[in-house]
Amino acid sequence: MDDFECSNVKPHVALLSSPGLGNLIPLLELGKRFVTLHNFKVTVFIVPSPTSHVKTQILQSAMTPKILDIIELPPFDISSIIEPGAATVRVIRVIMRVIRPSLRTSISNMKSRPNALIVDIFGTESSPIADEFNMLKYLFVASNSKFLALTLYTPFLDKQVQGEYVEQKDLLRIPGCSPVRPEDVVDPMLDRTNPQYHEYVQMGIEYANGQGDGILVNTWYDLCAQELKALGDDHLLGQIVKVPVYPVGPLLRQSGSGRSCSKELFDWLDMQPSKSVIYVSFGSGGTLSHKQMTEIAWGLELSQKRFVWVVRPPTIGTADAAYFKTGSDHPSDPATYLPEGFLIRTQNVGIVISVWAPQVEILGHPSVGGFLSHCGWNSALESFTQGVPMIALPLYAEQRLNATKLVDEMGVAVRPKELPTKNVVGREEVQKMVRKLMEDDTAGGMRARLNELKYSAAQALSKGGSSCTALSLVAKQCEERFRSTVP
Ligand code: UDP
Repeated sequence: MDDFECSNVKPHVALLSSPGLGNLIPLLELGKRFVTLHNFKVTVFIVPSPTSHVKTQILQSAMTPKILDIIELPPFDISSIIEPGAATVRVIRVIMRVIRPSLRTSISNMKSRPNALIVDIFGTESSPIADEFNMLKYLFVASNSKFLALTLYTPFLDKQVQGEYVEQKDLLRIPGCSPVRPEDVVDPMLDRTNPQYHEYVQMGIEYANGQGDGILVNTWYDLCAQELKALGDDHLLGQIVKVPVYPVGPLLRQSGSGRSCSKELFDWLDMQPSKSVIYVSFGSGGTLSHKQMTEIAWGLELSQKRFVWVVRPPTIGTADAAYFKTGSDHPSDPATYLPEGFLIRTQNVGIVISVWAPQVEILGHPSVGGFLSHCGWNSALESFTQGVPMIALPLYAEQRLNATKLVDEMGVAVRPKELPTKNVVGREEVQKMVRKLMEDDTAGGMRARLNELKYSAAQALSKGGSSCTALSLVAKQCEERFRSTVP
């Protein structure tokens, strides 16, 4: 009998992931830490979603060796309850609402009932299920504590701020935290009349009240000290959030089998000079407008720098529209949407990959010296820990917030004069940023800061480090709950 069949022999944690790889990837890493560092049993509940091709790969690599028990919840249909054209946050929240009965049934049928339920940012409405089964309950924030602070404080901003956030003249103030530029607010705050805004305000209320035992964040203390202090201070955000906040990151995938799966790419990278290649990618679901894609293509070509670019067909609709589109992760021919002749003219300096590439391994390759990124938090963490400076082109979700942190607070990225969500970033500006990052001294200073970050991340994760200790505190609570349930 293997561990997964044994009942009640060790503490057991259940993780609930919403659709979207940006949440799933670090959640799987969190699960692995509970197994490898604390010898827990871990079950991951995942929600069926159309981006199945890549997700299958991610799950397969997370399952090798098989240390996590992964349960896909049954398919669901939300077509009759969701308004046509609903925005992403609203769709995900509705999905996470409708899967609750099947989550409840799955838990109730388990021989070894989990001692804790850890949900991602969209799963907080499942808390009553944890209560029902005497489980501890935690929220896991795959992003950083700035995002957490903004989400917790939005129900207050909702009362304080008149009109749209993006139209405010003043910075948005959050007690104890660096202020938020109005144009950097997260997507659901862009339009207060959209139903997804109300879902987001509700998420803030649930984070403050609903998650009884704590909030885990994918960052480490030194990286986000200001917000983490504010979250723990009863005169600042600690007034709002009644539970401890545990920075347990960075939770990152380790380099895996990517190299062997993409032999041609790595053979090419092996032949390039050190730090000469810029890697261009917009995350697991981000898509560009046709115009923006054309300008990036021209910008790369004009810069005459070497590149690896992960492309997906241009978007029709919002930049995150690919998330729920069936088949959006199937490779298609880039020649059909890149500028005419681009692939031929750049064949000696660049490689274009359709839809998905082994990012962690690419960023870790010595030839890679820059990353043009949408600033998803996983990508940012991967870049920090591989010491690769960035160009910030945020597209959606909390990426504008991340971009400002990377550029203004941390000094590890450059960005265009105007946000790409306001105006298309033209080829001249793309060219200039690429040259700046790959050529001049700017990158040297950034690399020095990144080296410090890399060191501080490693310290946080090492025995006795802040993130390792924070996870141990959570594990201890789970162990105590486990012991109290064993007859
Ligand atoms: N990723 C990858 N290959 C790709 C695109 C993305 O391995 O071609 C991984 C990337 O390494 C990161 C995750 O997918 O771990 C994307 O998460 P992030 O938070 O950066 O962005 P999101 O997908 O949530 O927008």
